[in-house]
Amino acid sequence: MKVTDYIKNSNKTIFSFEIIPPLKGKGIEDICEGIDPLMEFKPPFINVTYHREEYDYKKMGNGLLKKVSIRKRPGTVGICAALMNRYKVDAIPHIICGGFNKEDTESALIDLKFLGVDNILALRGDPMKNESSFVPVEGGNKFAIDLIQQINEMNNGQYLYEETKNSPSNFCIGAAGYPEKHFEAMNLASDLRHLKAKVDAGAEFIVTQLFYDNKKYFSFVKKCREIGITVPIIPGLKPITNQRHLTFIPKFFNTNFPEEFSNELEKCKTNEEIKKVGIEWSIEQSKELIGAGVPVLHFYTMGKGQSVKEVASNVF
Ligand code: FAD
Repeated sequence: MKVTDYIKNSNKTIFSFEIIPPLKGKGIEDICEGIDPLMEFKPPFINVTYHREEYDYKKMGNGLLKKVSIRKRPGTVGICAALMNRYKVDAIPHIICGGFNKEDTESALIDLKFLGVDNILALRGDPMKNESSFVPVEGGNKFAIDLIQQINEMNNGQYLYEETKNSPSNFCIGAAGYPEKHFEAMNLASDLRHLKAKVDAGAEFIVTQLFYDNKKYFSFVKKCREIGITVPIIPGLKPITNQRHLTFIPKFFNTNFPEEFSNELEKCKTNEEIKKVGIEWSIEQSKELIGAGVPVLHFYTMGKGQSVKEVASNVF
């Protein structure tokens, strides 16, 4: 079922979460351990992230280093199929532009259509570690909007290089939104214009980047509505649980901690204390967002379901 239909049919805030595929070589049990405790909150859908290849240096027999391209977390499509089968939920694969030409994308979409996947979160992907800005592969989509257009064309039965119309797909397309602006955007206004273009191209729901200041989310939604974005805007949350998050999360996700929160975090001496403050903050954020009537509360588990369970059990 489509995310938009779940939202239409629900009279309360829906719980959902995102998982990342396990490192190559690990079993599916690794992610199920994180998912099982969250199923009591009845998520109708689970998002599965996509991770493109990375360059690494491997030592060869002769002692020299060789630059190799490896995918550390493959398996997004297979995991989606496994989740649908095991938990009887909808799985939402994230599909990115990076590393795919349009034909690869079309083949992936055909696989997803055959699997009965109804929703896709369409993203550009980040630049590779060795690139200063995002570079599409030859014949690939440059921005998320190009990918959204490609999916939309397939939804209209228009496949690449085919003159006749084919069996249309019926994907409900989601796009990413950034309450504190995307890190590359010149300003929030230009980022919002690009977001509006993604919606006009066919995105039917938006999932936000994680944030810790609800005021930023409310202001973002207001600005979206002012420029004519009417689709559901799903807030994304991630409880802080350790010292590393204090620097990694603001840097990697371009998000600010409100002063009241950072002051409390700075007083903590152990990871246990940080986790307690992080979970309490996330519970308060969730209560306020639910009170404001958000359609879905979406949690980033980053492979760890326990802290999300602690938050969810206080609010759902
Ligand atoms: P876009 O919408 O293409 O925007 C990228 C930048 O370009 C923005 O600054 C925008 O303002 C600008 N822009 C857009 N269109 C134009 C245009 N026509 N002309 C000029 N500038 C333009 N990454 C992964 O690799 N895998 C994942 O699974 C994944 N999941 C995510 C889930 C969520 C909910 C979010 C919020 C992000 C996720 N990301 C993921 C990260 C995402 O890929 C990065 O944030 C990426 O840098 C931007 O993706 P986007 O889809 O927002 O890009």
